[in-house]
Amino acid sequence: MEIQNNFSLKKHNTFGIEAKAKQFVAVHSIAELKTVLKENKSQKKFILGGGSNMLLTKDIDALVIHIDLKGRKVIKEEADFVWVESQAGENWHEFVLWTIEQNFGGLENMSLIPGNVGTTPVQNIGAYGTEIKDTFVSCEALSIDNQEIKTFNNSECHFGYRESVFKNEAKNLYIITSVVFKLTKANHKINTSYGDITAELATKNITKPTLKEVSDAVIAIRKSKLPDPKELGNSGSFFKNPIILKTDFEKIYQKFPEMKFYEISETEVKVPAGWLIEQAGFKGKRFGNAGIHKNQALVLVNYGNATGQEILDISKNIQDTIYQIFGIRIEAEVNVI
Ligand SMILES: Cc1cc2nc3c(=O)[nH]c(=O)nc-3n(C[C@H](O)[C@H](O)[C@H](O)COP(=O)(O)OP(=O)(O)OC[C@H]3O[C@@H](n4cnc5c(N)ncnc54)[C@H](O)[C@@H]3O)c2cc1C
Repeated sequence: MEIQNNFSLKKHNTFGIEAKAKQFVAVHSIAELKTVLKENKSQKKFILGGGSNMLLTKDIDALVIHIDLKGRKVIKEEADFVWVESQAGENWHEFVLWTIEQNFGGLENMSLIPGNVGTTPVQNIGAYGTEIKDTFVSCEALSIDNQEIKTFNNSECHFGYRESVFKNEAKNLYIITSVVFKLTKANHKINTSYGDITAELATKNITKPTLKEVSDAVIAIRKSKLPDPKELGNSGSFFKNPIILKTDFEKIYQKFPEMKFYEISETEVKVPAGWLIEQAGFKGKRFGNAGIHKNQALVLVNYGNATGQEILDISKNIQDTIYQIFGIRIEAEVNVI
C-alpha cells in the first residue's frame, strides 16, 4: 500500500477529466483501510469507487482513498432465497453477471451499470424498473472518524429516488465496505414491463425469459442507447428526473400539453428530464470540447479534452434554460466535485 503524491485521476473517472489528487492510495483490505485512516487522521479524505458518478471540476486537495476490497460469497440460504455478500470494490456489472450465473434473481435489470458494489447504496442505483433498495438487506460501513464498523439496514439507509442517507446525514462520515443482497433462488420475479425489454425480447421470440435473457436484453438496449465511457467520456444521466407537485404540474401542462410525465403519488408527478432538455433544443449540441449526446439528451459528454468546468457550465446553461422555459428546476444526479 503506497501513498502517491500529485496523482492523475484521468483513468479513475468515466468523464475522462484530467484532475490531480493531492495524495492517492488504493486499499485492498479493511486492515489497510483502518491503517490509512489512523495514520492520516488530520488529512482531508475523499472516497473513490469506480469514478462513474462524478464530475471533477478541480484538483482534489485531499487524500483520495480508492476502495479496492474484493470478494463475494453466499452467506445464508433458504428454499427460495439466498443472501449474498459482496465487498465494496467488486465491479457491479461483474457481480450482477456472477449472480445470474448462479441463477440468483433480482439484479438482472441493473446489468451494465458502471461502478462498484460499495457505491450502489449511495444513490440507490436503479434501471428498468428496479432499484437496489428492492434487494438490499444491509451494508457495513467504517466510520472515517473512529474506524468503528456500523451496519446500516435497509430502512436506516433512507433510500429514495437516487437518494440515501449516504448523500445526506451520513455524507463524508462513512466508507461502505460491503453490501448484502437478498436474491431469489426460485420463483424469480422477472420484470420486463419497463422500457423496451419486452420489445427487445420479442425480436428473439422470447416470451418466458430467463434471468440471463433479461440481462442480455438490458445489455443490448443500454449498448444501443448509451455511449460507452471508454469511447466517449460521460457519467450516464447527468440530471435527475424532476419530481414536482401535481398542482404546479397542472399549470405547466396547460402551456405544454405534449409534456411527458408519470404520476408517482396522489400529489406528485415525475417529468423526464431528457424530454425537457430535448425540447429546449440541447440534444446533440456541442460547445467546444463537450456537449450533449446525440441520442440521449440526459447524457453530457467529453469529446476528448474538456475540463470539468466546461461541462459544469453546460449543465448550468441547461438548468437555467429549462427553468426559463418550463419553470422547472432540474438537479444534477452526478456528484460535482
Ligand atoms: C454510462 C453510464 C451509465 C450509468 N447508468 C446508470 C443507471 O442506469 N442507473 C444509476 O443509478 N446510475 C447509473 N450511472 C451512474 C453510476 O454508474 C452509479 O452511480 C454508480 O453506482 C457509481 O459507482 P462508482 O463506484 O463509480 O462511484 P464513484 O463515482 O466512485 O463515487 C460516487 C460517490 O460515492 C462516494 N463513494 C464511492 N465509494 C464509496 C464507498 N465505498 N463508501 C461511501 N461513499 C463512496 C464518492 O465519494 C462519490 O461521492 C451510470 C454511469 C455511467 C458512466
